[in-house]
Amino acid sequence: MTVNARMSGSLAGATGTITVDLAQIAANWRALAAKVAPAQCAAVVKADAYGLGAERVIAALSHAGCTTFFIATPEEAETARKLAPEAHIFALDGLVGGCATAFANQGVTPVLSTLDDIAAWAALARMRGETLPAALHIDTGLNRLGLPVRDVRRLAADPSVLSGLRLELVMSHLASADNPRDPKNRDQLLAFETLTALFPGVPRSLAASDGLMLGPAYHFNLVRPGYAIYGGQASQLAPAPVKPAVRVAARILAVADVAPGETVGYSATWRAKRPSRIATIAAGYADGVPRNSSAPDGRPGGHVLIDGHLAPLVGRVSMDLITVDVTDLPDGAVKPHDFATLIGEGLTIEDAGIAAATIGYEILTRLGPRFTRLYVEDAA
Ligand SMILES: *Cc1c(COP(=O)(O)O)cnc(C)c1O
Repeated sequence: MTVNARMSGSLAGATGTITVDLAQIAANWRALAAKVAPAQCAAVVKADAYGLGAERVIAALSHAGCTTFFIATPEEAETARKLAPEAHIFALDGLVGGCATAFANQGVTPVLSTLDDIAAWAALARMRGETLPAALHIDTGLNRLGLPVRDVRRLAADPSVLSGLRLELVMSHLASADNPRDPKNRDQLLAFETLTALFPGVPRSLAASDGLMLGPAYHFNLVRPGYAIYGGQASQLAPAPVKPAVRVAARILAVADVAPGETVGYSATWRAKRPSRIATIAAGYADGVPRNSSAPDGRPGGHVLIDGHLAPLVGRVSMDLITVDVTDLPDGAVKPHDFATLIGEGLTIEDAGIAAATIGYEILTRLGPRFTRLYVEDAA
């Protein structure tokens, strides 16, 4: 594998890097597709492919054989359509603002979750004298987006509302699939089966990264993983057959001695109890390192890896910088201008999430624009 030469040229002044292993992302998608076959496997690439760069990720997944992509917004739809001219593209946020005409022109399928949006999309189809593709999002207990049961039944009772539309998918979303033992999974599954029976012959989709680990009963015709494709583990108990694909590193700027009794950082939240060595690293909350990942209250906080050794964050996370305690690291391990690993082998995205009392998804999608994105591909 080689680091893309075009990107690596800009490393000289880089304070931090995100190394995205496109070959691993493709391998993860293939492993998930194999797991759910004969169901189909889409790829969710919303939020700039979870912050990793939609352009490169969509190209790599298309090359791997993925033909169905989910994005959230009209802007993301436009990007995805340019990169994957032949693919099925589903827009999860539905008809946002006045985007219906753009979707019709681009051949993007809106995921519709209100009767008003269904009526508007069908009216556009009739006005254009063409059949437009549509997906229905029905609510089975998440109470977020999705047609409520009453509206699903009204729709099924009067199919003329759908005239001019070609139903490509009926879908719902699980609330608690990260916990396979939660009885809500079963409840939503049964509700989904009951409600989708009102639309015979229309392909069905229920599961995301965590839901697809609940077993074949949850796969239906299409699964919609995002996080797992990027190497994340969404389920608490059932590891997905994927491997990490992202490494995040930031430059060590300086190492300094701190005497016992001295404090480190804003508000002096950390005080040295012994002669200490503190390394200052060039990433902060403006880069997506949660301010919450330094833990003066005694909760276990975040770590970085330097030369293979874990070093804990101490003192407040500031906008551009973090400070870590490297007192216990071997002499010579900490070298200014070297990179410390924030996420990588031995320090997962989930670890970083737990350290900040959040989830890996939030860590991944908030990594900021100051990181230089590097892409690793197959040498072939
Ligand atoms: C984001 C999203 C997904 C993908 O979820 P992951 O947990 O990342 O796999 C699937 N379906 C819907 C409706 C979503 O909003």
